Amino acid sequence: MSDLNLLCLPCDGIGPEIMGASVEVLNAISSLLDLSVSIESGFVGLESLQRYGTTLQEDLLLKARDEFDGVILGPMSTMEYPSVSEGGRNISGAFRLGLDLYANVRPAKSRQGIRNKGPGMDLVIYRENTEGFYPDRNMYQGCGEMMPDPDMAISVRKITRRCCMRICRQAFSAAATRRKRIAAIHKANVFRMTDGLFLECFRDVSREFPEVKTEEILIDAFAALLVRQPEVYDVVVTTNFYGDTLSDLASELSGSLGLAGSINANAETGRCMAQAQHGSAPDIAGKNIANPTSLIWSLAMLLKWIGEHRCDPSLSLAGSMTEIAMDRVLANPENWTKDLGGDISTDEFGRRVVAALRQLPKLP
Ligand code: ATP
Repeated sequence: MSDLNLLCLPCDGIGPEIMGASVEVLNAISSLLDLSVSIESGFVGLESLQRYGTTLQEDLLLKARDEFDGVILGPMSTMEYPSVSEGGRNISGAFRLGLDLYANVRPAKSRQGIRNKGPGMDLVIYRENTEGFYPDRNMYQGCGEMMPDPDMAISVRKITRRCCMRICRQAFSAAATRRKRIAAIHKANVFRMTDGLFLECFRDVSREFPEVKTEEILIDAFAALLVRQPEVYDVVVTTNFYGDTLSDLASELSGSLGLAGSINANAETGRCMAQAQHGSAPDIAGKNIANPTSLIWSLAMLLKWIGEHRCDPSLSLAGSMTEIAMDRVLANPENWTKDLGGDISTDEFGRRVVAALRQLPKLP
């Protein structure tokens, strides 16, 4: 019997739809395994802007940090947000920084039967989450983007030894439990100081993991290599912006952005936030056709992460069973949503994952 307090924030666009399907799956696995999971919902994004004049209330962020074991966050329509001074806070940035969720773990795998451009791919990208090019994350005071005059804009990137060391350590730890291969993606031939520092940390950490085979690849070459030989890569570690871009490429190669799960996590505090990799998909919002796999997979990853951190086998099992049920549903084309070439609705997909969960063999 595990006590788990989760905060659900559906957010914008397809968020409420994929959150609905995910919560249904969460309720099913909790009752199957007799977990004690409490779920509280909150408003963030455009709904919060309308109600409270800000896309994210500071109180809610503090509450998430102090009173909850984990967060499930839906996607944001950031392009529709007003400026920060008018209430348009970047919600995921605020959570990543506020809860110090420095590792954005983004798996991508091709599945048998699902049309994809990355056959044999089974990799996971470890993206640094708390610094880099992101202007809301790289300054103590002020913002990392500025306009000295209307025809000139400047952007600053911050890279620190501390953040590079901890994301590399996380990525190497993961590689040690997988196929023992890791690639550092960089552009140190041009960004000699910033990407150079990242590479220096990667090499330092590699000495702690002699069993893991390392590679260092330029980001532009890696974009081509990922398309050419996606099956080769195991763990990929990189800085914030490169990781954001490459993970979309990897997910789309795997078949659809709708398959792209992720967590944002801190190995030291055990804090974790589940969040689909994609955006709010305004083109399909409100139609009940979005693929909820991304958020269901993120939820499964969150359960496994917290289970591992707490040494709680029932939570780890809940995560694994959710993944197995989801994979079984995806293996049958009759269960596919529109993005995969099928016609199943978002909530029907959720119900089918619940049905698959109930058919899994009883536990040891
Ligand atoms: P952002 O900049 O926040 O990533 P975006 O609008 O540029 O957002 P997405 O919202 O990720 O990008 O959408 C990109 C494409 O992928 C759209 O055509 C969208 O419909 C599709 N897409 C994204 N998520 C899903 C999903 N869960 N199911 C089906 N299609 C999706």
